[in-house]
Amino acid sequence: MKRLYQCIKNKKVNQSQAREAIYRVFLENEEKCMSVADIRRELSKVYTKKVSLNTIYRHLDLFVSCNLAVVIQDDFKKAYYCLTGDEPLAFTICRKCNRVKKIAFHPEKCDETLEDTDFITIHKKCEKCS
Ligand SMILES: [Zn+2]
Repeated sequence: MKRLYQCIKNKKVNQSQAREAIYRVFLENEEKCMSVADIRRELSKVYTKKVSLNTIYRHLDLFVSCNLAVVIQDDFKKAYYCLTGDEPLAFTICRKCNRVKKIAFHPEKCDETLEDTDFITIHKKCEKCS
C-alpha cells in the first residue's frame, strides 16, 4: 500500500476507495498477470460498489504511470496487468494459449545489454501447451 500512497501523492490525485480495492486485488494476486476481466471479477469479490470498466482502466493507467504495474499485450492486443516489485521482471507469453506468466529474471546472468531493464517478454509455449 505504501507504494500506492506514494504514487497518489506524486500524481496529486484524490484518494479513491475503488483504486485501493483494485490495488489490493493486485497485492493478493502478486504472482499473476490479470486481464481487465480478471481484475473486474476479483474486484467484485472484495468491493461491493459498482465500478465501471472506464474507471478500472483509469486506475490501471495510473498504476502503470507510477510503475506499480506493467501492462503486457499478447499477440491479439489483449492486455494483462502485473504488479511490479523491486526486481526486474520477465514474462512469458504462450504462443498457443496466450497465457501470460511472471517468471524469475536475472539480468546479471544475461547479456549486459539487459542491464537496467524494467521487464522483458518471452514468447514461447507454456508448460501446458508444450
Ligand atoms: Zn499455453
